Amino acid sequence: MSATNGAQSLYDGLVAHGLLVPVGAAGVFGRGAVFEDVLDRFNALVTRTGASDRAESVMFPPVIDRRVLDRVRYLESFPQLCGSVHSFFGDPKRAAELAEQSAQGGDWGPYLGQTGVVLAPACCYPLYPTLAGTLPPGGRVVSLLGWAYRHEPSAEPTRMQAFRVREFIRAGAPDEVLEWRDRWLDLGVGLLESLGLPTQTDVATDPFFGRRGKMMGASQKEQKLKFEVMVPVISETEPTALCSFNYHQDKFGAEFDILTADGAVAHTACLGFGMERVVMALFKVHGFVPESWPAAVRRQLWP
Ligand code: ZN
Repeated sequence: MSATNGAQSLYDGLVAHGLLVPVGAAGVFGRGAVFEDVLDRFNALVTRTGASDRAESVMFPPVIDRRVLDRVRYLESFPQLCGSVHSFFGDPKRAAELAEQSAQGGDWGPYLGQTGVVLAPACCYPLYPTLAGTLPPGGRVVSLLGWAYRHEPSAEPTRMQAFRVREFIRAGAPDEVLEWRDRWLDLGVGLLESLGLPTQTDVATDPFFGRRGKMMGASQKEQKLKFEVMVPVISETEPTALCSFNYHQDKFGAEFDILTADGAVAHTACLGFGMERVVMALFKVHGFVPESWPAAVRRQLWP
């Protein structure tokens, strides 16, 4: 089955079973109650799997201070993915023109100006500024569930413009962070395999923009900073990343003044499960009706 056919048949099946609710824009859709139930149950399973981390938990909204993107130089690497929030700052005459453009289905972007917030492109970005200062001995582990936005409209259901990620973030000394990352690589693979999902793990790169981005990707690969756990969802030959592991070295520690207990610049790493992707993989592999999923899989999600 080609990737295009695979994408269409999965999307059609999810819609036919009320799991996804089309809303028009590509890569944007509603989630039905059964879809959300499976997502919540997978989230709870992740919590149980990571219990020994005793992670702190915090919730951030889907918009973040746009200065965070400036500080991590996001626009150098991913200008094509960013989602900036704009609003209207003009006078009544200008407002009337804006409304007229909108009513005619015209381009009303020129009437808007940039606000102080952007859509979060990664769920962990709002966290790093809050870690500024000296970490406790042994560092910190924080757990988040949040929405991320990427401007990549697509008919392929696993390539969404807005999606949730369950993340864990570790900040500490380099050896602590790497040991934690490696332990979670095993935990993440074990977790997905326990749900009957056939995984493969590989070094990966982020979709850096342009020619300079190619070099950044090559360096990221060379240093093995990013790993992905993939499962065939749309196609066998191009499996979908369900879980990704990123080692940032001292990038965020240096930018946001995060120090270890002994005064060195902290290193950070994060891992994230793409929640909708995991749920779609379960429906793809086990069928669209959870009541008929294998007993071993149901025991994991309905303990
Ligand atoms: Zn992250």
